[in-house]
Amino acid sequence: MRVFIFVLVFLSTQVNAFVFYEDTRIWNRDSITFYFLDGTPQQQSEVKQFAKLWERYTGIKFVYVNEKPGFFNFKQFYTISFKGSSNQSSVGRVNGEIQLGELSDNIVYRKSTILHEFGHMLGLSHEHQRQDRPDFLNSTKVLEQCKRQQVKSKSWCYNNILEQNFNEVFVESEYDLDSIMHYDLHTITGDDKYKDNNHSLSYIDKYFIAMLYNQNISDKTLKKMHQQDLWEQQKFELKADKDREKNIMKLSTSSCKPLAYPNKSKDGKYCESGFMIIGSDDYSLPNPEFKTCYISLKQITKKIQQHPLCQLTRNQLAYKRKSWSDGFQSFGNCKRLDTNKRNNQEFYCTKGFSYVTKNNDLIGDKTKCYGSEESAYEAMKSDKICNLSKTEFNEYQRQQTIAQKRKLTSKYCQVVKKKYQNISCPKGFDYTIVEKDYTDEPINSKCFASTHQAINAMGNLRYCH
Ligand SMILES: [Zn+2]
Repeated sequence: MRVFIFVLVFLSTQVNAFVFYEDTRIWNRDSITFYFLDGTPQQQSEVKQFAKLWERYTGIKFVYVNEKPGFFNFKQFYTISFKGSSNQSSVGRVNGEIQLGELSDNIVYRKSTILHEFGHMLGLSHEHQRQDRPDFLNSTKVLEQCKRQQVKSKSWCYNNILEQNFNEVFVESEYDLDSIMHYDLHTITGDDKYKDNNHSLSYIDKYFIAMLYNQNISDKTLKKMHQQDLWEQQKFELKADKDREKNIMKLSTSSCKPLAYPNKSKDGKYCESGFMIIGSDDYSLPNPEFKTCYISLKQITKKIQQHPLCQLTRNQLAYKRKSWSDGFQSFGNCKRLDTNKRNNQEFYCTKGFSYVTKNNDLIGDKTKCYGSEESAYEAMKSDKICNLSKTEFNEYQRQQTIAQKRKLTSKYCQVVKKKYQNISCPKGFDYTIVEKDYTDEPINSKCFASTHQAINAMGNLRYCH
């Protein structure tokens, strides 16, 4: 974090920071008054609760009032409003304002935003706008990411992220990626490796602010206090996660329900982070918008409350499923192979669905089984064979017949039709396996309904290979 100053005194400390005497941004009193312009009791109480952490390290008491401080009580004070379209704050000891107009629906982020804006109020500037920031924050990628992700104007991105202050006199601690005054790295870089950011004051934040506000806290005590905070924060985040999950699960309708990891839908769909919306029958829903993972409570609430599919009764959903199932029956040269139905080569899925050519032939050696009609249909749509033109497909089938014929013979055996005398096969079971050299004698005295069945059986006979 950084503070602008007038007089600078150098002091080397353990975390390598500088200290100064007088700064118009630093408050020189025991309490600061905040006047709530608006906000629900819940919003106001969150501010009071979360901002406490700064009180602990500055020794300053935050006083909150709901009426404008009177003229005779004149002192500098801050107004707090929950209106407007952004979160921002004046900096330091002025008659300033904190605007919390864009608070998240996630309490963990709300806390971190409130702490960040109070950091400005205490005189701190953005960590990521320091001139000694790492190079990866200087790239044009960051600007593009800012415009894309935050849906902000170019000038907003310059003022709040890209611009560095070169001409100011300031004091600073060592560069701190974990500082509450640093924007979330994942948000500003778009890089997934920064996913788990710090959501509260970092150790350096505490060390530095305590020093700025002349708090005489020993390193040992500070470390202890920090440990305690970490523990509290962990508990807080865990509880927030649980509460959020509880609230999201309450959104279920008679046809839709949210699904939280590690649970999976019956057809094997899940979201590793966030929530998916599936049918109340525990199967996933086919529309593309139900393949998204929702992180925000607001988004998932909106989707479940507004999507027509989620307004159906259970019976209507079952009826819909039937029509989807019909729609997913075939594609191009292929058709669906339903559960426990065998294809020509005796392949079948005991669970889920597969697909075959329209002649009921297997595609590949052993095609996969899919959890739902829809996923088997999706697989058909991207299968080369299913997409072949008519002539190409005829050629494919010709090749398949040749390959199939080759399979009638193995090293020592062959599949034949009615070449045996000493066993009697029922009608329709015309095939058997014989040794190449002794064609009169069926090997295992078994009869098969198709060449495929016999080929499969021959594959299992060690003797034949
Ligand atoms: Zn800020």
